[in-house]
Amino acid sequence: MKTTLLTDLTVDDICRGFVYNELEGKGLFGWDGKLVIQPEYQRNYIYADGKKDVAVIDSLLKGYPLGLIYFVKVGDDRYEVLDGQQRITSFGRFVRGKFPVVDVEGMPHYFDGLNAEEQERILGSKLTIYVCEGAETEIKEWFKTINIAGVPLVEQELLNAIYSGPFVTAAKEVFSNSGNSEMQKWKCYVAGDEQRQKILETALKWVSGGEVQDYMGRHRFDKDCRELKTYFTSVIDWIDGVFKGVKDEMCGLEWGRLYETYRKTAYNPEKVWQRVEELYGDEFVTDRRGIFEYVLGGEKEARLLNVRVFSDKEKKQVYARQTADAEKCGVSNCPLCAVGHEASAKRIWKIGEMDADHVTAWSKGGATDISNCQMLCKTHNRAKGNR
Ligand SMILES: [Zn+2]
Repeated sequence: MKTTLLTDLTVDDICRGFVYNELEGKGLFGWDGKLVIQPEYQRNYIYADGKKDVAVIDSLLKGYPLGLIYFVKVGDDRYEVLDGQQRITSFGRFVRGKFPVVDVEGMPHYFDGLNAEEQERILGSKLTIYVCEGAETEIKEWFKTINIAGVPLVEQELLNAIYSGPFVTAAKEVFSNSGNSEMQKWKCYVAGDEQRQKILETALKWVSGGEVQDYMGRHRFDKDCRELKTYFTSVIDWIDGVFKGVKDEMCGLEWGRLYETYRKTAYNPEKVWQRVEELYGDEFVTDRRGIFEYVLGGEKEARLLNVRVFSDKEKKQVYARQTADAEKCGVSNCPLCAVGHEASAKRIWKIGEMDADHVTAWSKGGATDISNCQMLCKTHNRAKGNR
């Protein structure tokens, strides 16, 4: 790979012919049309939050460097921004009057409202630009490793860059598109920001069983993303079919895995939802996110619900009562030791040698309160836990 360092290009040079697409949130072209600011492997513009974009302008006004910018040379006098798109779009939009900076008195100033000296300081700021030439794979591999200023790329944004092509373009159109009418529904079950590729990331994980890179590599030159979309929609439809309602805790669960595990099981949606509601009302269930898998799995794995355990106060109370009774009768304070014929039949265990046990298990309706608590020696408690 060949790199050339440019140090004479100014903000003004890059802003000549600057085109910004407000609708798509993309800086499209600059530098008299020679520069493509947002090639398809770049993420959408995420600096327009009144902080990061303003910080770019503040840096220019103070004469601070904006950091390294990378272009890829793609043809004769034609370039694409590899890194620096967010910064270029920020100053391009500012010079076009798209947002103001606020001075120390809290007064907003658009570019046109700055004095001539300030305008000149911004336009005349020199940029440090590395121009890279080389094989696409080489450049993309290197892009993955460079340290990116500003907001770091998230994993999926890097993968979109590395596997850029028609498949990624089509997939982003579906899964990174806030205007997609189904996005609202999807986000009931999938966590994260579609703009930062979180929905796409999840869709890819589901369809590939976690082998995202492999999947993207194999489908890179597909003209569409039909399989990805079909699979994703099947998972969503399955959730919709099994669960009659939506709870906040359903967002971000491992639905891909649950779908693969349970999609062949028949459910009665009325009964399923009734159980979900009952478990939501159960004060001993401390992990509501586990309710869905617990119900799907036929209510066998209570550990998914992280059922409340006895508190130290409750344990002490039960220990004191059990031990006093045992000493009166001259037997062990572990009720299971007391009925045995071992040497421990008369042993008085210390509280640290015992554990609290549900007399009636939670899963069989037993409550987590002291009326349903007994202290057992550790050996007996472990044995009971395995029944
Ligand atoms: Zn015992």
